[in-house]
Amino acid sequence: MKFVANVEINHRLAASYSMPKRRAQRSVLAFGTKPGYPNELVLVHQSNLNSLGTVYKVKDNIERVFDKYAKDGKTTIRFKEPPHDVIINCEASALERFLAALKMGLRKNVCTKSLKLPVVGSEPLKKVPPKPKHHLTYNSSADYPTSEGFPKTAISIAINELERTRFDMRLLGLPFLQVLNLSNNKLLMLPPEMDLLPSLVKLSVAHNQFGAARSLSSWSWLHGERLARQLKDLDLSGNEISFLPPAVCNLRVLETLNVKNNKLTVLPGALGTLKRLKTFIASDNQLEFLPGSIKLWKLWFLDVTDNPFVFRTPRSVRMEYKTPSLLEWAARCVINNRLKFTPADLPLVVQHYLHTVTFCHCSQACFKEGICVYSNLAMNCIAANIVRGINLYEEVPVQYRLCSYRCVEKFNSYCS
Ligand SMILES: [Zn+2]
Repeated sequence: MKFVANVEINHRLAASYSMPKRRAQRSVLAFGTKPGYPNELVLVHQSNLNSLGTVYKVKDNIERVFDKYAKDGKTTIRFKEPPHDVIINCEASALERFLAALKMGLRKNVCTKSLKLPVVGSEPLKKVPPKPKHHLTYNSSADYPTSEGFPKTAISIAINELERTRFDMRLLGLPFLQVLNLSNNKLLMLPPEMDLLPSLVKLSVAHNQFGAARSLSSWSWLHGERLARQLKDLDLSGNEISFLPPAVCNLRVLETLNVKNNKLTVLPGALGTLKRLKTFIASDNQLEFLPGSIKLWKLWFLDVTDNPFVFRTPRSVRMEYKTPSLLEWAARCVINNRLKFTPADLPLVVQHYLHTVTFCHCSQACFKEGICVYSNLAMNCIAANIVRGINLYEEVPVQYRLCSYRCVEKFNSYCS
């Protein structure tokens, strides 16, 4: 077995012979049998400076294996002859496989042939493979990997200012991609297959053209169950969006939501159900009020400046409250009891209905049939750090729906 690692050789007698200490080198380590000796296990260390490699006999030649930090990809093997400490630093999974094979090889009652290890050290090393790239930025068309594709090892990718109008579907084949920055392009939408990205936690599509795609289906990527479980940071700023789909409330582990510099006039009623949200930025929009559900938030940072908020004096409402429909009662139960459901559990129409949830003064879920009222909410009740802007607002107007006769009465007595 072969793997690439940073290897430092510590010659234990170096000090006595006044030998200089060598720095760690990117190397190839190969564990297997010696050419022509199928029963002799060896570890071969090859690097660009030592292409023929140093061959370490394994059986009865290892004094100790220091594997306390093997889970972090670090280990040291102390050989008797030559008196070297081979200090290995590499990918944890590769090290784990190597140590397991080494352990098997060192067992006295195990036949070396039965391990089926390859013959190693028969050829000089041509070149140590280059370090895989994890963080990539493409901001010129010449650099864009049109033919070769993206490296499979990529953890973060930024594709900026390339005037891209379509999402590059090859990005979906990157198993380790955690951060995807597609800001400053000309994208209208993302594909529904976004859910295929198994590691994505941060997505920025700032300064694209999402607002130009009018249909609700262009936001179907927000319905992905995997995305709902793992996306923590979403930046939709500067897209001229006039409608933020309620499906954004699906992203239940979202910690940062940035929708600033759009054309939003209303926000989804269930926005307050994003319980893990810490940062919310909706400055520079056309919002006249915020949804009442935000009173459930405990944010670290809130910026809703530069919106034409309309502050209304709370006025009592007429007691024309009707008994809600069965659909509304059922939907209230789902939200109030926090029943979990996946897209596979419910018809799409019911899911859409559930996304239209708003909240009553009493914090209970309420849908279209509740009476709509306006009130003001002190921002310091929901956020630790607030941007107040030039108007120095302390409060924001919020819209509630009253869920019952009792709440209508309570609201009316509050107004009078
Ligand atoms: Zn109520």
